[in-house]
Amino acid sequence: MSVPTAALESSICAPLPVLGQNVTVPLVTGGEVTYAALDYAASAPALQRVWDDVAAYAPYYGSVHRGAGYLSQLSTDLFENSRRTVAEFLGCRADDQVVFTRSTTDSLNLLAAAIPADCQVFVYETEHHASLLPWRDAQVTYLNAPRTPAQAVESLERALADRDPYGPALVCVTGASNVTGELWPVKELAAAAHAHGARIVLDAAQLAPHHPVDIAELDVDWVAFSGHKLYAPFGSGVLAGRADWLQAAEPYLAGGGASRKVARRADGGVDVDWHTTAARHEAGSPNVIGVYSIASACKALTEAGFEGLVAREQELVGRVREGLAEVPEVQVLSLFGDDAPRVGVISFVVRGWNSSHFAAALSAEYGIGVRDGLFCAHPLVRTLLGSDPQDPGECGAPEAEPGERSLNAIRVSFGAGT
Ligand code: PLP
Repeated sequence: MSVPTAALESSICAPLPVLGQNVTVPLVTGGEVTYAALDYAASAPALQRVWDDVAAYAPYYGSVHRGAGYLSQLSTDLFENSRRTVAEFLGCRADDQVVFTRSTTDSLNLLAAAIPADCQVFVYETEHHASLLPWRDAQVTYLNAPRTPAQAVESLERALADRDPYGPALVCVTGASNVTGELWPVKELAAAAHAHGARIVLDAAQLAPHHPVDIAELDVDWVAFSGHKLYAPFGSGVLAGRADWLQAAEPYLAGGGASRKVARRADGGVDVDWHTTAARHEAGSPNVIGVYSIASACKALTEAGFEGLVAREQELVGRVREGLAEVPEVQVLSLFGDDAPRVGVISFVVRGWNSSHFAAALSAEYGIGVRDGLFCAHPLVRTLLGSDPQDPGECGAPEAEPGERSLNAIRVSFGAGT
């Protein structure tokens, strides 16, 4: 049966329009203003294209993989085509698998559950908690915050040289920091990992919305990202990469969809034959709309072309940084220095201001939405603020008196719809 998937796909306009561009919000000072969404790093607005595609598909929504009916067939087709679209978007190798998850956090927890029992894990203390924390059941080496990309490679090489060379090992690294926006030397880190017999997973939550991510070209073993940061806010994520560890592991969730055959045993127990495809880790009814929306966003970004999007975003990065540089009280946070290449994510503190109050004032008085706190990267932000990375203080804790050192920061972030 041929299903009308092409008819459901709307055409793309450039530059990329997003929802919410004309939302007006009230100001405490009276009147209202068009809202400026500058918190893309937390959740980016949906692309209009994604919204249109989802709306066109919604009347045809049905269960996937298990129904003979027309809508089930159509939904299954869209779901599996979405997997192919994501594989193309990421430049996957022939034997890579694309597993749909709920988010980057979910993807990295899935991988953490799938690594061999004796796997050594290497992770920088500067990671987002989603890539810092899932490995705690493994033998983890936390690497100190490097101050240059070259230092990052050197410290990884040193740590890997000291490891048991015969056991499995995994390096986990972010492609772009959710705090500083700085790009990490992924290709060099992948080469270092492989030279020492280790594998590497790329947390592309902040990289994929701003830069092409090519799994084969970067030579990373896995990539994880979230739909809601890639302009597809419908609760889905991706883990893509090498099939062998994923298929040797127990299913992430046990249930229908992950199992090929289930039978009672003579001794009263149950035998299960698990799938050896991505379905092994996708038990239960999947988030079809979320998956379709990720594929729609991938197509929209590809068709618009990253070259233009990157050039425009870099212009905005320059403008924001110039504006902030004119305010003497502002200190922009940076691990690798002012000239380090970065995506549209910039964090700063303002001397004399409590960061939470500053962010609240931007919203209430100007209609500008930013984020404040430690951005789920507590050790990194503490390092950048010159406080103790081992200090277990609260995320977003109120600051000391005005004029004292900030305990949290303010973050502006933007992207394809800005
Ligand atoms: N990794 C990075 C670098 C992030 O910035 C985030 C979210 O901010 C995550 C992982 C976690 O993403 P999610 O909350 O979608 O699981």
